[in-house]
Amino acid sequence: MKNIYSLTLSDAVERFCLPKSKAVNIFRDIYRDKAESYAEMTRTAAEIKERLAREYEFVFPKAVKKQDSGDSVKYLFLLSDGNMIESVLMRQKYGGSVCVSSQAGCNMGCIFCNSGKLRKVRDLCAGEMVTQLLYIEKDQGIRITNAAVMGIGEPFDNFENVSDFCAVVTDDNGLAIPPSRVTVSTCGLPDGIDGFSELPRPCSLAISLHSADEKTRSLLMPVNKKYPIAEVIGAARRYIQKTGRRVLLEYTLLSGINDGASDADMLAKLIGGEDFTVNLIEYNPTGGEFTKSIRFFEFYDELKKRGLRVTVRRKFGEGINAACGQLRSAVINEREMK
Ligand code: SF4
Repeated sequence: MKNIYSLTLSDAVERFCLPKSKAVNIFRDIYRDKAESYAEMTRTAAEIKERLAREYEFVFPKAVKKQDSGDSVKYLFLLSDGNMIESVLMRQKYGGSVCVSSQAGCNMGCIFCNSGKLRKVRDLCAGEMVTQLLYIEKDQGIRITNAAVMGIGEPFDNFENVSDFCAVVTDDNGLAIPPSRVTVSTCGLPDGIDGFSELPRPCSLAISLHSADEKTRSLLMPVNKKYPIAEVIGAARRYIQKTGRRVLLEYTLLSGINDGASDADMLAKLIGGEDFTVNLIEYNPTGGEFTKSIRFFEFYDELKKRGLRVTVRRKFGEGINAACGQLRSAVINEREMK
């Protein structure tokens, strides 16, 4: 059985040979009226519900741990097969923003990331991503206005499901979040970036860059050995050309690794004057070999002086293991020690 929240509007039209108006009714039942069972669906005809029920079921994750730090809430979710994932709600001035996981574990092995230490067990289906938002929306009684696929997993290593997630959450009859407010963050898979640019309603793109120097980036992110910076930035430029949107380059500052004036020079040389925004992130220590940079604001000034567009990521969830994958790995380690 498939997860009903994986169903896109175009799937409903094509797979069930429905006129668009009837497919829209399914979406309105589920996303506007928040039906959580076939019995609660009042707009959809009984015959269509029967056909849907042969293939799709309503499945929600279960929150097994919840840590609230005031400005953010971290959820540890148990999936129906026993796998665990994390999501984080950030309470912004404009509404709720949720960081969504796309895989249980991750194979990309970024050296500064806890999720990378726990290998990928499986991809999440689109419905398992959509329900992270629905669960949090209901639990908190708020409207989710922004979503970022930045939690556990590499989204473009699960391309089809992430594309379906984007289609459902941006659909006017789905969660109706504008595509500009749904960000997919990749470690830099050029084919995935190209495929993403071609989607009918492409969402926003972020790339974890963390260094403009090949050697340093390969040390931090092994994926760079397969897809060097030039290829990743080339795909980003094609995305910009195709969509007219800027690309966010995430840059976590690590002391003595990527925070020097020469690093600012290399970054300016790579992207100077183009439609990129550098998003500086303060490192959230995960107990490994890295420490946070003490040059955070100097580096910010150095980039600004070189004419780059720079933003600083607001820090959420200090004290709640908010770094990527920390809660999940803590629980898995606890489990393994028992
Ligand atoms: S940073 Fe992202 S891509 Fe890299 S290991 Fe962690 S979850 Fe995977």
